[in-house]
Amino acid sequence: MNAPHPTETAGSPVARRRILEARDVSKRFVKRLDLAGKIARRLGSSIREETVHAVDGVSLSVGEGEVLGLVGESGCGKSTFGRMVAGILPPSEGTLSFDGKPIWNGGRVTARETALAVQMIFQDPFASLDPRMRVQDIVGEAPVVHGMVPRKEIGDYVAEVMLRVGLDPDFRRRYPHQFSGGQRQRIGIARALAVKPRFLVCDEAIAALDVSIQAQVINLFMDLRADLDLTYLFISHDLSVVEHIADRVVIMYLGRVVEIATTEDIFDDPNHPYTQALLSEVPRIELRRRDYQPVKGEIPSPLDPPSGCHFHPRCPHATERCRAERPALREIAPGRLSACHLND
Ligand code: SF4
Repeated sequence: MNAPHPTETAGSPVARRRILEARDVSKRFVKRLDLAGKIARRLGSSIREETVHAVDGVSLSVGEGEVLGLVGESGCGKSTFGRMVAGILPPSEGTLSFDGKPIWNGGRVTARETALAVQMIFQDPFASLDPRMRVQDIVGEAPVVHGMVPRKEIGDYVAEVMLRVGLDPDFRRRYPHQFSGGQRQRIGIARALAVKPRFLVCDEAIAALDVSIQAQVINLFMDLRADLDLTYLFISHDLSVVEHIADRVVIMYLGRVVEIATTEDIFDDPNHPYTQALLSEVPRIELRRRDYQPVKGEIPSPLDPPSGCHFHPRCPHATERCRAERPALREIAPGRLSACHLND
């Protein structure tokens, strides 16, 4: 049994069995100097390469079978975090483990089994599908390459996976451009399912689809969860979708986690001022679903984030302490964590 995780509590669903753990995970990107910058530096300028702290010390756990929503404004680091979980981007610091085994060893994914067990569904299905490949090759390539299905059986296997995601197997010889946006996303889901994953990282996976198609794809994700015991990291800026789909929600701001709680607690009684700002609704009674308004104020640059609490320039409660001291993410009630000095 692993040591208790700092973000885990008795009231949390992840207390039963943790399948994914992140501990103090950070990712930095160095913005290289362009030619003019290099020349200026040679001429004696103090100009330097800049570092983006895309993810800054994130710790969280996901319980087996759970849907964990990861929410924040554009540029908060949620997609970068998802890519580290999916074995696409190595972390700069910290550890990520899946089913007790580390995902990364330095800059390399440690084991093929882990890489296959965690699959990613991308926002833009068209960009993530090779336009020169037929669906049967897009879906069937990885299972054959990894020896999961004999080549002579791949036709039947692809047909089975296509049926599971609601695609007609008769269309398997078609190319991605011959499908609608919703169907293309189903091809992306079929490609991920073909290697029998246990964990799906969905990165804004329905954001590019029409609202009516979004509902169908969400229902597909939930059916797959029930049928295949899948666990999800569901990354989205769309709070209405997250409220509908997630068991717990993690709120990120400028690379840091600011609040973790059950979906019910987040939406009924948000603790962190940033979560409260995110959940400010536009009062429009004709809308059947909640509609949220953008948080007031500019998002600061991750190249030069504010001192102390990153949210202080936009926070109506900010004090001198907030400007100087980073608030720790700590438990404020069973199963609830928040990073705000107001809780002291
Ligand atoms: Fe606002 Fe201060 Fe809390 Fe940050 S720590 S959210 S600035 S009150």
